[in-house]
Amino acid sequence: MGRERLYLFDTTLRDGAQTNGVDFTLNDKLAIARMLDELGIDYIEAGYPGANPTDTQLFAEERGLRATFTAFGMTRRPGRSTSNDPGLAALLEAKADAICFVAKSWDYHVRVALETSAEENLASIRDSVRAAVGKKREVLLDCEHFFDGYKADARFALACAKAAYDEGARWVVLCDTNGGALPHEVEKIVGEVVKVIPGSHVGIHAHNDTEQAVANSLAAVRAGARQIQGTLNGLGERCGNANLVSIIPTLKLKGEFAGRFEIGVSDAQLKTLAHASRTLDEMLNRAPNRHAAYVGESAFATKAGIHASAIMKEPATYEHVPPETVGNQRKLLVSDQAGKSNVLAELERIGLKVDREDPRIGRLLEVVKEREAIGYAYEAADASFELLARRVLGKVPNYFDVEKFDVTVEQRDNALGQRVTVSLAVVKVKVDGEHLISAAEGNGPVNALDLALRKDLGKYQSYISGLELTDYRVRILNGGTEAVTRVLIESQDETGERWTTVGVSPNIIDASFQALMDSIVYKLVRSGA
Ligand SMILES: [Zn+2]
Repeated sequence: MGRERLYLFDTTLRDGAQTNGVDFTLNDKLAIARMLDELGIDYIEAGYPGANPTDTQLFAEERGLRATFTAFGMTRRPGRSTSNDPGLAALLEAKADAICFVAKSWDYHVRVALETSAEENLASIRDSVRAAVGKKREVLLDCEHFFDGYKADARFALACAKAAYDEGARWVVLCDTNGGALPHEVEKIVGEVVKVIPGSHVGIHAHNDTEQAVANSLAAVRAGARQIQGTLNGLGERCGNANLVSIIPTLKLKGEFAGRFEIGVSDAQLKTLAHASRTLDEMLNRAPNRHAAYVGESAFATKAGIHASAIMKEPATYEHVPPETVGNQRKLLVSDQAGKSNVLAELERIGLKVDREDPRIGRLLEVVKEREAIGYAYEAADASFELLARRVLGKVPNYFDVEKFDVTVEQRDNALGQRVTVSLAVVKVKVDGEHLISAAEGNGPVNALDLALRKDLGKYQSYISGLELTDYRVRILNGGTEAVTRVLIESQDETGERWTTVGVSPNIIDASFQALMDSIVYKLVRSGA
């Protein structure tokens, strides 16, 4: 029996761009659109042509995408004709494959927000859809607040949806705009809508205000909807939109959906999902969510010794899907609870071949336990663990020595008479018998130290030129004046690879220095310096 086609509609560039602190440039938008296209998404909603220069320009570009490139905008304004509405005109003129209109479907909003009549709202939907169909565009109608509207006045909400469908809209999209609906409500209401409009023309657009956006999307599909709208990583204002990064693998890997439906994402494309998710975070300069379903760094990480030894024998014992299917990987955490099997598995993952019976394994485990007891956290700092393991196994060259460093913090008045705090670091290193001294100013002591340390490493400098510090986290481990500080540093190189290193000391500068050193040495090891 053939499987039914389900369509994926991404709105990262439109609804996702509403997120606090997110501001995509034209290049960002083009890069994300290409990434979505390569992932196999059917529709890419890219913005509002005519509403701002970036989006207007975006829709004027040659894009060469396979996906249906979709422009978003409002239906004609009440009391205007379609030919006398500049917003609508810009939308109709845009170089888009499809146009997604948004319209009210809650009588309360029509009265209060739009200050118009129910009849005029319906006429605006009909006129706008007709105009876009006339321009040979595929047309979608987002029914804003559909579920609240349906609960308040089902006949009116349905009439809005039906008006668009009858005028030739390819899709009528039911939006849970304030994200307050629950899965059983969505399933029931969508079930009623598909009695009036065929499910093959019905979409779902869910927001995540009750953490149900993914569940609501799946509930709508169960009830008959055949288009799912969402964003990468669940980006979106407030609590976000339905997360396509969770929805896609669920549709591909979970029997109920995989058996009934086909989507545009192939198995090979699914393997690039984790990478796509992390690439978006990188563009937004955000640390990826470790605990994200399917793609998070911890999504397939196991800590307890007994689970780990079972996973070594048969991964399916503790994993709901194989991590490789979504481009993620299994990770057995090294921690003070860990047994030898964790350490062995982790060594294998990082590509260090060691015999099971090698006495150095036992020694490594001892060192890890000792260091974790004084505050090191290797499960969060994979790069520091790898270095520690390589050191115990005698596989880290001594690239350079830091003979001394000096950091000063000075507060003074600058030339404009403003009070400023300046940090200066001086670092003396020895590379191949050669003494090098670097100094750098920074906005804080750690920043200055980082800059000075990476300024001149002699013949190794070219290996670390793309190194960048992307996250810095400090934790005080026990209170009082005897407190110990743990610093975790996340770094990234020019290829986009990220790694985390750790340092522990009663002195925050010293703890930071250890983590910075590990980061540099790790990069040198990885680059084969
Ligand atoms: Zn929305």
